[in-house]
Amino acid sequence: MLSSISTPAVITCKAAVAWGAGEALVMEEVEVSPPQPMEIRIKVVATSLCRSDVTAWLSQAHIRIFPRIFGHEASGIVESVGQGVTEFEPGDHVLTLFTGECMKCKHCTSNKSNMCQVLGLERQGLMHSDHKTRFSIKGKPIFHYCAVSSFSEYTVVHSGCAVKISSTAPLDRICLLSCGVAAGLGAAWKVADISEGSTVAIFGLGTVGLSVAQGAKLRGASRIIGIDINPEKSEKAKAFGVTDFLNSSECKEPIQQVIKRITDGGADYSFECIGDTDMITTALQSCCDGWGMTVTLGVPKVKPVITAHYAFFLTGRTLRGSLFGGWKPKSDIPTLVDMYLKKEIQIDELITHDLPFEDVNKAFDLMREGNCLRCVIHMPK
Ligand SMILES: [Zn+2]
Ligand SMILES: [Zn+2]
Repeated sequence: MLSSISTPAVITCKAAVAWGAGEALVMEEVEVSPPQPMEIRIKVVATSLCRSDVTAWLSQAHIRIFPRIFGHEASGIVESVGQGVTEFEPGDHVLTLFTGECMKCKHCTSNKSNMCQVLGLERQGLMHSDHKTRFSIKGKPIFHYCAVSSFSEYTVVHSGCAVKISSTAPLDRICLLSCGVAAGLGAAWKVADISEGSTVAIFGLGTVGLSVAQGAKLRGASRIIGIDINPEKSEKAKAFGVTDFLNSSECKEPIQQVIKRITDGGADYSFECIGDTDMITTALQSCCDGWGMTVTLGVPKVKPVITAHYAFFLTGRTLRGSLFGGWKPKSDIPTLVDMYLKKEIQIDELITHDLPFEDVNKAFDLMREGNCLRCVIHMPK
């Protein structure tokens, strides 16, 4: 193939650059460097806005890491490959991975973890391999986000931070499996391993929470209690398997008491999908003694420390964290794509908005206003 024998050149293309925390993104011409050894350059096809993009964009804690290109839930087509890459070739359809899989480290070779020690969550806005950026504007480096940065027509990722998927899958729908939907399904199936007939409580009915509900329903949970403060979520929640919708802002007694009452002492599993550490405590209080398990999925916006009375653990409850639903991204995600193609899992119903790339700021507005589950941003053809 031509591009694998010739050296790829710098590409100049459009990217949505955040120049400062919370500042509207600006469409800029950026230079995207060729993929370095073991990296690939991708033409992004579709990228959906995830809550974590918004949280990181608003955060004052990382103002050093600007200007920056956000976006981490994406699909695309390989444009060129760097030295040493044998797994991909130009034309391959891929999903990007915000947490990668090197296949060799202690965690990648253990069946107990998906926390790769080499290509795990990148927090410095740089590439894993050389701690540099692959984007620049007139020589000025532009930082990455989660080593993905998909709000750009082209991006460079490590070959361990992308997974090859079926070329028949619609890229503008399955991009949701790159983060939110997979995180929810994995929390239900891999982390909690929900058994048939169980009771489940889910705090927060965004894309992640609804995906937990879908996972619980497919496992045959008997009761799926969904908790949210937005009454408009009720109808959609039912479509994803929620049997009881509770509006926590309207409950006259603490929500954990309601859940305990209707589940005879607490749910078998509870899931925190909001990103609120106080809610983790509530979720722990909502599950039962003996075997009750609380799984956390949300990324806390403030107050990262959790408080919980030791008695919860003394009485046999478990608190488990999860990143990307415990999936080993390269090994497991193609299976989820195939399940979608066989109509075994729902994704389309979570996409409330589709926007062209030039309207990317509108997606941020929709997410902040709470009017959106997932907005898919379609990149120029
Ligand atoms: Zn995400
Ligand atoms: Zn690894």
